[in-house]
Amino acid sequence: MSEDNLLRDVLRSGVLADLPDRHFIDGAWRPASGGGVMESFDPGRASPHAVFAAGDEEDVAAAVAAAKRAGEGAWKKALPRERGRILSRTAELIRQNSERLAIAEVLDSGKTISEARGDVAGAARCFDYYAGAADKNEGKSFPLGEDYSSFSLNEPVGVTAHIVPWNYPLSTAARSVAPALAAGCTAVVKPAEQTPMTALMLAELLHMAGLPAGVCNVVTGTGSAAGAPLAAHPDISHITFTGSTATGMGVMQAAARNVASVTLELGGKSPNVVLADADLDLALDNVVGAIFENAGQICSAGSRLVIERSIHAEFIERLVRRAQDLRMGHGLSETVNFGAINSAGHLAKISSYLDGARARGLTVATGGNVAADPATGKGWFFEPTVIDDLAWDDPVVQEEIFGPVLAVQVVDDFDEAVAAANCTRYALVAGIFTRDLSRAHRFARAVDAGQVYVNEYFAGGIETPFGGNRKSGIGREKGLVAVHSYCKVKSVTVRI
Ligand code: NAD
Repeated sequence: MSEDNLLRDVLRSGVLADLPDRHFIDGAWRPASGGGVMESFDPGRASPHAVFAAGDEEDVAAAVAAAKRAGEGAWKKALPRERGRILSRTAELIRQNSERLAIAEVLDSGKTISEARGDVAGAARCFDYYAGAADKNEGKSFPLGEDYSSFSLNEPVGVTAHIVPWNYPLSTAARSVAPALAAGCTAVVKPAEQTPMTALMLAELLHMAGLPAGVCNVVTGTGSAAGAPLAAHPDISHITFTGSTATGMGVMQAAARNVASVTLELGGKSPNVVLADADLDLALDNVVGAIFENAGQICSAGSRLVIERSIHAEFIERLVRRAQDLRMGHGLSETVNFGAINSAGHLAKISSYLDGARARGLTVATGGNVAADPATGKGWFFEPTVIDDLAWDDPVVQEEIFGPVLAVQVVDDFDEAVAAANCTRYALVAGIFTRDLSRAHRFARAVDAGQVYVNEYFAGGIETPFGGNRKSGIGREKGLVAVHSYCKVKSVTVRI
């Protein structure tokens, strides 16, 4: 079936045939040890579209054991350049299967097909990037004088756990699994229970690319039944967790009991600062994209607009028009550019923030309501929402809503903008729009954030390190720095 026909067929039927429905352990599909299954819901319709294995501690133990065996066997013997070739072939296979992966991602997550296609292309790019890193993981030499030869080896840490959220299921799995495999580690992935499909499909593609059995395993199931035993497993050496701050704290405690290292990619409440001297058309495009892409379900969303008073009124008027022009609907409909909320529970959480805001008498400039796909009357949707002129201590400013809700803070000058940017417990990213490069650089130094975007929100790529400070996390993904998270440095000193 052609790709166009496949998209139309799935939009009509609501089902993508031949999706994986079991764990991927030791190079093979395996049902849950307890025989249980769970349903995955299509958020655009609010109905189940597939089933998958409800994993538990026994499945996790089997996956970790397989990963340990592979790490001490076939994967240890593979030359770094062979690891690179497998990652490279995986990138190619992702591209060859891109439409199927994108459609599966839409059905599980609720995002739009164009967003999902971008995610799939990004995942392929991630494997390309780390394919090149596999044989460039160089050590150093240390100057001890002529009687010694001293150098370091970057050795793989061992079995790594990858716990993934539902908002970017494929790209989040790819961005941690690829550097782990490049470093020579093995992996056990636990996708979110809302969005298990593309991680399973990725594991299969890795094996089609030549990855030995057991090197990358995927166990599906809930956080408590499958995620918690994985985080607590004594044979896990490093955990990369992406998800909420509260869960991340628990994962770090579990890791501490085994002295395992962690990379935590947690929540955010990122400021997007627009100064009066900015190119306002450019700023407007970016403010809209920063909060309404993926219906705001992005850790690094620009969920706070910090704007100078002199341009505030006109900018908000234009922003409201842009928000109202977004076309909401099922992600597989190509005319749609604003997708669904991932689950009924998450929709209720977003809605409760608006109930609170109205009760406090706040100005909801646009949106603020639960909605449905206009074509079918179904699905979990929330209107693009702007809440204007907020006090800095308001919950809408301080708390991560993780939906299409923009909190606006009005400031009088640059210094106040910096203070507003830094006013929450999160410190993931920060954006600024200004024509004054000196102020942009001063902002970049003064703001507490893992990454700063100047005149383009979401700027950067797999090459640029990504991560959070404060309650937004520890450690960095992406870039070559990510490979080092999966290595232990061994120094070797020889008396000669
Ligand atoms: P979540 O913390 O509920 O779940 C994330 C993952 O952890 C899921 O796979 C879940 O099953 C698992 N999990 C749940 N309880 C667990 C436990 N006790 N032990 C081990 N694993 C457990 O988060 P979510 O609601 O799925 O995702 C939204 C959150 O993720 C937001 O806060 C968002 O900001 C954050 N996020 C951060 C980044 C980043 O890069 N910083 C990226 C995406 C999402």
